[in-house]
Amino acid sequence: MAHYSIAIVGAGPAGYFTAQALQNAQSEDRTFAIDLFERLPTMWGLVRSGVAPDHPKIKTVAKVFEKVAAEPNFRLFGNIEIGKDIDIEDLTSRYDAVVMCTGSAIGRKLGIPGEDLIGSISAAEFVPWYNGHPDYADLEIDLSGDTAVVIGAGNVAMDCARILAINPSELDTTDTAEHALAHLHASNIRKVYIAGRRGVEHAAFTAPELRDLPKLEHTDVHIDSQQVSEAHARAEAAGEIEKHLASNLEAWRLIAEHPKSGHDRSMEFRFLSAPKEIKGDENGKVREVIFGINRVEGSKVVDTGETYSIPCSLVISAIGYQAAPINGVYFHNGIIENENGRVLGTNIYTVGWAKRGPSGVIGTNKSDASDVVDLILEDLKEPKETMDISMLIPSGHQIIDQAAWAKINNAEIAAGEPLGKPRIKEASWPKLLSLGLN
Ligand SMILES: Cc1cc2nc3c(=O)[nH]c(=O)nc-3n(C[C@H](O)[C@H](O)[C@H](O)COP(=O)(O)OP(=O)(O)OC[C@H]3O[C@@H](n4cnc5c(N)ncnc54)[C@H](O)[C@@H]3O)c2cc1C
Repeated sequence: MAHYSIAIVGAGPAGYFTAQALQNAQSEDRTFAIDLFERLPTMWGLVRSGVAPDHPKIKTVAKVFEKVAAEPNFRLFGNIEIGKDIDIEDLTSRYDAVVMCTGSAIGRKLGIPGEDLIGSISAAEFVPWYNGHPDYADLEIDLSGDTAVVIGAGNVAMDCARILAINPSELDTTDTAEHALAHLHASNIRKVYIAGRRGVEHAAFTAPELRDLPKLEHTDVHIDSQQVSEAHARAEAAGEIEKHLASNLEAWRLIAEHPKSGHDRSMEFRFLSAPKEIKGDENGKVREVIFGINRVEGSKVVDTGETYSIPCSLVISAIGYQAAPINGVYFHNGIIENENGRVLGTNIYTVGWAKRGPSGVIGTNKSDASDVVDLILEDLKEPKETMDISMLIPSGHQIIDQAAWAKINNAEIAAGEPLGKPRIKEASWPKLLSLGLN
């Protein structure tokens, strides 16, 4: 019987699915002791701090994560940042394999003038702010103007735009962070533009998200029907329209044709619009975004040389994520350098967004984890001698173990109950730590 110790870094979907795949791979002659390290005092990664609060069903996957955590071969070390509180070398020398599931949390830059003006932020800040991530609770977001522009053509851009454009009362019974909810209630934003560089047919929004838009109760959603029919014609001209695109184009047609109710709140999609510059006022605050107008030519999108401007006070860029650096780990092009999940020449592996970049849904990380665990099984040799991990933890450092996380989780759920909310998230790091002690 071989008994292996595996460290997993990052308690998001990739981390839990890796633990689950390891638990499923146990047999009569092979067992695993799994230690999961997470830098935050809260678990579940982007299921907690990314997924939109008005999409609660998606978060029920957390039940699967808690089932994994309840297995006797699983230990949680929350509030421990690898690369800071513990060195990666301390893990690689003690564990048979170390699986980095650290995600990608930094927003990609637009690379245009004015990007750093006040009022120009990234979805990588805005999303964790409204979702109660303790690193972003104090972010100041100015919602005093009436117009916001979201740049990007994927579901993250859509989440940002929706949260700004819906009536905040629709969020009252969700787990939106309390500070964000209060701010959204006081918001003057009434018009939200979503701008994509390419055509309607190229957008990465998924059909279920698009089909939900006409159902918004207090917000009119606009898309120029000509842009939709032109996209349809281009797609048809390029050959048979594949199922996924046909479904998206149909969803766009329904949005374009949906009768508008004259709400003062609206969302408007602008395609073939490439941001060129963000201009500011004399106080260094965002005043307008200048867009170049693009045209589709065959398989290419080209600049027509024409421009237009959208006056606004807030710009949110949602054009993708890259991994945050970790001491002792080599990154390349925004991900951990790896070959199918193996970090060559080491006993380090990687799964999830840290491995692939920001693509796929939560379930994608499950198959990814299972594939990488197969590689780990191939590579494992004689188990290392078990060493006590507690000696690596800096003295006096509070660990959020599974029991402490359960206390935080239960306290949040209990606080939400009288208000009909799934939970009230605690967004202060010290308060989270003290909840873990109670
Ligand atoms: C705004 C947004 C909305 C989304 N909505 C949906 C949706 O509705 N449906 C859907 O299917 N998918 C959605 N996704 C995608 C989904 O969230 C991801 O596929 C998934 O979370 C990626 O999992 P991961 O474990 O790789 O990364 P993450 O979920 O980011 O988890 C990484 C974890 O690692 C921790 N960590 C990082 N560095 C360290 C370190 N040095 N030491 C210890 N811990 C560390 C982080 O704190 C985090 O908890 C959304 C993503 C975003 C950004």
